[in-house]
Amino acid sequence: MQFKDVIGLEETKKQLIGMFKKNRLSHALLFLGKEGSGALPLALAFAQYINCDKVNGRSANSSAVSLFGETTEDDETNNEDDSCGVCLSCQKNSKLIHPDVHYSYPVVNRTDKKAPISTEFIVEWREFIANQPYGNSYDWLQYIKAENKQGNITVKECEEISKKMILKSFEAEYKFLIMWMPEMLGKEGNKLLKLIEEPPPNTVFLLVAENDQFILPTILSRTQLIKIPNPNKKDIAEALIQKKVIEVGLAKQIAAMCEQNYREALQQTEFAGDNWEVTLRDWLNTIVKTGPAAQVKWVEDISKIGREKQKQFLKYFNKLLEHGIRLRTMGDLAMDSSLHENENQHSINDFAGRFNRLCDISQQQAIINELDLASYFIERNANPKILFLSLTIKLYHIISNKSVILVS
Ligand SMILES: [Zn+2]
Repeated sequence: MQFKDVIGLEETKKQLIGMFKKNRLSHALLFLGKEGSGALPLALAFAQYINCDKVNGRSANSSAVSLFGETTEDDETNNEDDSCGVCLSCQKNSKLIHPDVHYSYPVVNRTDKKAPISTEFIVEWREFIANQPYGNSYDWLQYIKAENKQGNITVKECEEISKKMILKSFEAEYKFLIMWMPEMLGKEGNKLLKLIEEPPPNTVFLLVAENDQFILPTILSRTQLIKIPNPNKKDIAEALIQKKVIEVGLAKQIAAMCEQNYREALQQTEFAGDNWEVTLRDWLNTIVKTGPAAQVKWVEDISKIGREKQKQFLKYFNKLLEHGIRLRTMGDLAMDSSLHENENQHSINDFAGRFNRLCDISQQQAIINELDLASYFIERNANPKILFLSLTIKLYHIISNKSVILVS
């Protein structure tokens, strides 16, 4: 992972590089960032940067060292604001196989074996980071098929960490332990206190968390806090266009709706081919204008698109309603100034505004509740035709007759 792979956060990247260059690196750092901020990829990029041969003034390509000391092309392009991405150290780091960079993350019992350790899941971990670097702990636990089991950083894992970190580093100057979700480390984490407080030389503990309230206070107090903001809407939109190759208007629309959460943005992008605004307009038209025959046709169509898309559509409608309520209560404040020039945001505001005239807040709240309930049933394999037909009828009553809400 390189800094350039982390969406936005230019200030934070500069701050980290500055800390490293000025030797102000604490040996225990806490990267605290909300879901979708990119705190984990940033931590991976930071470790790769610190260990990069080129950043440290060693040859970038150790397998082809120039005998005559010629300047290679790479040397000219390197500006040290990022790891080189090509040296041996970078290659190993990007594959998560560097012998001096260790990872701890929540895991579950695979069988009835007691106290699993993170490295038992290292293959999955590498795949997960390659595929979903912005994933959250839920995504990860799904990925390792934890089902309903609670993820955990176990006492045995703490012992493993102690063993690993006492070893001298093999190749790099710095040895890292990157611990993701220290929130899932229970009291057994106290075993690590001494190590974190007086670590062996050139050892860096990099904790990556979403919520500091759930971290052991004893550990928290021994770390240097680095707050990781969420990327801004402009950076998210640009990343979506570049990495996901979606069109500008749609990228801006998603960036406006994802609450600066890049994970959420990616999820919405998965269904980017679908123009939910049109689907929703059609639906509402059948409800308030065109009537039962059109409703049945619409329900037929939505029944065929599959559960994931149906959920995504309901989510879109929900977000729009929430946005409408925000517009109603906060007025112009709800419209982020950076979005004013965005045509799509205009159209979202316009649509939400018109919906506001159609329904009052209690009606909108009633619709939100029905949509949540519908998503819940879709997840449990409800028959989509029956579900959307009954939802259509409920919406009709909610929109046309307020008294029905009071009864239901
Ligand atoms: Zn490098």
